[in-house]
Amino acid sequence: MRAMRQSLLAALALLTTFAAQPAPYDLLLKNGRIVDGTGSPWFAGDVAIRGDAIVRIAPSIADPAARVIDVGGNAIAPGFIDIHTHARRGITQVPTAPNYARQGVTTVIEGPDGSSPLPLAPFLAELETLKISINIGSFVGQGSVRSAVIGDINRKATPAEIQKMTALVEQGMKDGAFGMSTGLFYVPGTFTPTDEVIELAKAAGRLGGIHESHQRDDAARLLDSVNETIAIGEKGGLPTQISHAKVVGVANWGRSAEMLALVDAARARGVDVTIDQYPYTASSTSVAAALIPAWVLEGGRDATLGRLTDSGSREKAKGGIVMMIRDERGGGDPKNVQFASCGFDPSLAGKTLADLTRARGLAPTIRNAAEVVIWIVQQGGCQGIFHAMSERDLVRIMRHPATMVASDGEVPVFGRANPHPRSYGTFARVLGVYVRDKKVLTLEDAVRKMSAFPAARLGLTDRGVLRPGMKADIAVFDPATVRDTATFEKPHQYAEGFSQVIVNGQVVVEKGEMTSARPGRVLYGPGRK
Ligand SMILES: [Zn+2]
Repeated sequence: MRAMRQSLLAALALLTTFAAQPAPYDLLLKNGRIVDGTGSPWFAGDVAIRGDAIVRIAPSIADPAARVIDVGGNAIAPGFIDIHTHARRGITQVPTAPNYARQGVTTVIEGPDGSSPLPLAPFLAELETLKISINIGSFVGQGSVRSAVIGDINRKATPAEIQKMTALVEQGMKDGAFGMSTGLFYVPGTFTPTDEVIELAKAAGRLGGIHESHQRDDAARLLDSVNETIAIGEKGGLPTQISHAKVVGVANWGRSAEMLALVDAARARGVDVTIDQYPYTASSTSVAAALIPAWVLEGGRDATLGRLTDSGSREKAKGGIVMMIRDERGGGDPKNVQFASCGFDPSLAGKTLADLTRARGLAPTIRNAAEVVIWIVQQGGCQGIFHAMSERDLVRIMRHPATMVASDGEVPVFGRANPHPRSYGTFARVLGVYVRDKKVLTLEDAVRKMSAFPAARLGLTDRGVLRPGMKADIAVFDPATVRDTATFEKPHQYAEGFSQVIVNGQVVVEKGEMTSARPGRVLYGPGRK
């Protein structure tokens, strides 16, 4: 009797164990074309996920799963990693970041162009409290560091100031930065001698970080700037990256060939230099940064307005602005400058500098437009879009094996202002226009440039490739229909062709729409203490 009872209990226990045993997988993606991120040709197969990780990839997986999705021959790729974004513009208002998630991006990195929150720790702590749909990490910005220690003024740092700045970069790395960004094009980065940048880069490198740069000049002094970015890596002893590589100004078009030759020569002698790029022939930044000489901007807004009032310095400033419209970001014509947003007059969003010059009663010549640029800065300034690059340079840079894809975008509030379409379209545009339509890249190479390559650059060893044991960040899309729909005229349009996007094992995009899942995590760099 007792023995029978015992065996009954044992049988019951066994039954309960079976009942409590979950299905072997939480999620099973069936019938995919697996583009694994390495650049290898796709293969037909299934991907099984348990918790936040990929646990199995095989030609056919028959085991049960809590949820099975037949992807019907769509591509299954690692979620895209965007190494250069301004996501803090908007991520707190729109933590779901649908503009990114809906084009397969599962990780964005902040702190670009020398500009990051400082200190970094409270910013990352705030992100930890947000319910975000995708992963996010940050660089520490050299410009922010210099601004905190010296201010936005044009002079060399003292040894004591260099020590202070080094300590701030180290703190940024210990807080979790992936490296140090520079924006030597911007104030105050532009006031920094190369040697000073190298000193700070060494500090980031000692803690495992990389350097990425918005270069000092993408126009007439492009090649000097490429050499500088290379020197920062070579002398600083850390990997270095040319961010959003571009050739600005008609007179400079074609120089991407020389730029890439410099990169190839540096790589041949052992310098770890790489490139990122967005697939558009227009850039975006503030009108002041793009069209006003740096000396006019030194020392902040009051100093700038003073210089624009004094008749002598105003004339000199105007000469600089004329040059910048003619030869640089102005693209040679006021119609090539478009307003993304103007705080003092939201109705200007989408209009051009030529439109505004006419509206102010002037013929849209470059000289008149320069007057209007001064007026804009006096009103409080605008964000602009600058059509000043060539498609041939874009394609040549994209084809280079050391070029990865990055948006340089932000998280727009849907419908607000007229932002650069790169925030909505970068990754889908590469897959639609440059893989399918123009055949500039193979599908596999494009996916590599969006996943394994940036992951390796950031030292993310558990993302960027589809392999058992890796985090389940996955983009599922139809290579035949994937496309960007955001344009310079109508930027607030989501990418199409993504059936599922998965972050840390949770589906955040389903049949092209956001779900309620918010599995995004804050990612930390190699120096975190
Ligand atoms: Zn930039």
